[in-house]
Amino acid sequence: MAGEPQNDCLFCKIVAGEIPATIVRETETTVAFRDINPQAPTHILVIPKAHYENAAELAAGAPRIAADVLAETKAVADEEKLDSYRLVFNTGSGAGQTVWHAHAHVLGGRGLQWPPG
Ligand code: ADP
Repeated sequence: MAGEPQNDCLFCKIVAGEIPATIVRETETTVAFRDINPQAPTHILVIPKAHYENAAELAAGAPRIAADVLAETKAVADEEKLDSYRLVFNTGSGAGQTVWHAHAHVLGGRGLQWPPG
């Protein structure tokens, strides 16, 4: 069920402490940790602790937590001293989503091209 931990979800396991991650920030509702396969000098994922499949499900099902995730992306960018950075929510397999627990990518520390691929 939306919002409930899923046994087979990698990011639920990180939230539960069952899989290690380099956690940089944690709040009551969110966790931020370094991406295991960084695509930029700073590449941090901000996730809700509650399980929602993607950003759209999170926004519809728990808008206050969606706002918490967004606020934490700013806190991460401030801590990393990023003047410019990109937020990405890949939503659906056609957009490259591979982990089915909503997450914001915070990417920075190098020049970023637009449009993305
Ligand atoms: P993509 O794999 O195309 O970036 P997503 O938007 O679903 O798709 O992002 C999932 C992200 O999770 C990837 O950037 C991946 O490197 C990262 N990731 C996968 N496993 C871990 C892990 N154990 N710890 C930290 N990051 C992870």
